[in-house]
Amino acid sequence: MAAPEVGMKITIRVEITTDWDKTDTFEVCQFERPYRQLEPEKIGLSLAEGKDVLHMLQRVVVAAQAEEVCMMRRFCTHCHRFLELKDRRIRKVDTVFGTVPFRSARIVCCPCETPFQMEYPYSPMSEFVPERATAERCRLRRGSRHRCRIAR
Ligand SMILES: [Zn+2]
Repeated sequence: MAAPEVGMKITIRVEITTDWDKTDTFEVCQFERPYRQLEPEKIGLSLAEGKDVLHMLQRVVVAAQAEEVCMMRRFCTHCHRFLELKDRRIRKVDTVFGTVPFRSARIVCCPCETPFQMEYPYSPMSEFVPERATAERCRLRRGSRHRCRIAR
């Protein structure tokens, strides 16, 4: 009988607890380090693997936050009505760890909050990422443009 194919596996999971105390675990990524293929380059994580971990972690965190924003905005703050979900669209946000996609919910606003009792869909996440980038990413962009102007 052949020896089973085994090797060291490193799994990175993240546990996220919402504002209403619901905890979920998400797998971020997995690395394999089988002893038979071990070489000096395979000790620890490489710089590229470390960047991948942060990028994948960023995807999971942004997706969870987009979901939480959607849940928190489904109730009208005035009449407490549960608001209709129009749809979810894939949006991208530029972050310091790369561009990550997320499902951005479009919620139909409550007629009690709008002039002429109109109901129209809006994306609550656009309030948090108005320039399709995180605030830190925007500051870094502005900083690098500023430095470019000084250098000229
Ligand atoms: Zn309302």
